[in-house]
Amino acid sequence: MCGIVGYVGPRQAAPILLAGLEKLEYRGYDSAGLAVIDDGKLQVAKAKGRLQTLIDQTENGRHPAGSIGIGHTRWATHGEPSDTNSHPHLSQSGRFAVVHNGIIENYQALQTWLADKGFHIVSETDSEVIAHLIEYYAERSDDDLIDVLIKTIGRLDGSFALGVLDTKRPDRFLAVRKASPLIVGIGSGENYIASDIPALLPLTRDVYLVDDNEIAEITAAHIQLFNLDQEPIEKDVYHIDWDVSAAEKGGYEHFMMKEMAEQPRVLGETVRSYVHGGQIAFGLAEFSAAELKALRHIHVVACGSAYHAGVYAKYELERLTGIPVNVDIASEFRYRNPLVGPDDLVIVISQSGETADTLEALKESRRKGARVLAILNVIGSSMAREADDIIYTIAGPEIAVATTKAFVCQVTVITMLAHHFAYLLGRLSDREMADCCDELLQLPALAENVLQDMSLYQEMASRLYNQTDMYFIGRSSDFAMSLEASLKLKEISYIHSEACPAGELKHGPISLIEKNTLVVAMSTEARLAEKMKSNIAEVKTRGAHTMVVTTRALQSLFQGVADDIVLLPDARPSQLPVLSVIPMQLFAYYVAVLNGRDVDKPRNLAKSVTVE
Ligand code: GLU
Repeated sequence: MCGIVGYVGPRQAAPILLAGLEKLEYRGYDSAGLAVIDDGKLQVAKAKGRLQTLIDQTENGRHPAGSIGIGHTRWATHGEPSDTNSHPHLSQSGRFAVVHNGIIENYQALQTWLADKGFHIVSETDSEVIAHLIEYYAERSDDDLIDVLIKTIGRLDGSFALGVLDTKRPDRFLAVRKASPLIVGIGSGENYIASDIPALLPLTRDVYLVDDNEIAEITAAHIQLFNLDQEPIEKDVYHIDWDVSAAEKGGYEHFMMKEMAEQPRVLGETVRSYVHGGQIAFGLAEFSAAELKALRHIHVVACGSAYHAGVYAKYELERLTGIPVNVDIASEFRYRNPLVGPDDLVIVISQSGETADTLEALKESRRKGARVLAILNVIGSSMAREADDIIYTIAGPEIAVATTKAFVCQVTVITMLAHHFAYLLGRLSDREMADCCDELLQLPALAENVLQDMSLYQEMASRLYNQTDMYFIGRSSDFAMSLEASLKLKEISYIHSEACPAGELKHGPISLIEKNTLVVAMSTEARLAEKMKSNIAEVKTRGAHTMVVTTRALQSLFQGVADDIVLLPDARPSQLPVLSVIPMQLFAYYVAVLNGRDVDKPRNLAKSVTVE
């Protein structure tokens, strides 16, 4: 959940570590810290709160001196955010410093064991035991630190990416991972580690993607990777071809606004990657008609917004392919002994490709013999390495914690996938396929149209931002987008919000409607619009303030029951889910800004949920 960085080279480490942490702050930001070796001794600076506190404390990295170091930005899982609980953690004698991303599940047993051996635990974290275990084994392993680290991680249950400094070897540091992300950056005369690519972009474009249980030994001149048998491993260099500006704010006040504004472009890139000459083809995910016909079930598994894309996938895949589709939240799926097997296709969806629960669901599905297709945004991520098939959303790096551009790309990939499967199954003609491709290619221009006049959403937000509760309703794919609209609003504005299928209102939630409660109805499907109108009338009668998101064609239907109308451009059903959710992202954004919220880094949340 957090970010870790490391540097070794000729330059002073602290400013480089801080710059790297700044790029990773979206991953965790309740405290930050760094450790460097200076004159054979560890110098540590750490502080509760935003990274800025650490930047101030170290006077912009002017101290400590030292040209090897590790850094951490934390998203606390064990122990409240505090100076003591911040990373790095030191071993008892002060020889080792450790930064940790992940969760050590058996930390209490290890604490007891270490206490027995005379180690004194000072923090409430699950991470500190790692530093002491390293010291314990170092005292018994003739200082062969690779061996020490292998023994140490052999004691750890859970997930980790670690950076380890050893004062006895001020020329090198070690890193290792299991189920938490880690990359090693290759510099010239200096080298680095980081949890994610944006932290390394200003330093290098060449990296090694470290796999589970691989150990990296890093000096200024050399990087060597080892497996658990201490054998050196050769790895391909992965070259990053992103644009640096893709990871910068580019003049926007918030990353979220920049990323919403990028949606037409990234939708275009995603569509053009897979649509050619009136056909859809996914290079890394190829299915035959026979394979699809043999499928018993499709299971779609994801968390958070990706799960909402999954709900949309259920409607769209079932409608177009006729194959039964089950959609699941990954943390529920993985712990209930899911009924999947060789006749099933499991589709996992994740922006980062690192979401811990989804990754485990993927592995469990493969263990049970199912074929797994992953819809991912980050190339080379853990899920990309575990899945049978991959479809990348070409959204580029997404920095704001609340997803926008990656989500609409997920929805678009699902639209493409459902049509592609239907075509392979003979349920869609060449003509229908070509029409669908045209519609997809028009999507960027339509999205541009929705984004053109942002003052509309700003104006609505300025009237409605001080609500205490909001409700979103919809049917079918509009319901899937209502789920996402509601999540967007609550995660960045901290206003209580719920989404419910419009038909469910009268089975409970309607009792919450009072005078002026805001109810947002998403209604873009013509066949369901009359039903939606009745539902809107039901809440309006009870005093609700109603906002309807609909198309020009349906607009007149809602006159009289809608207090506010968000009008979408004329569009086809394959285009409407994306077009209807964009105004709701903008509305959520402005409501959050008007409430003075930290839009890019909402409290308690982190971008890449690499812990369960
Ligand atoms: N579990 C560790 C802690 O709470 C690390 C959390 C993180 O990944 O930021 O300190």
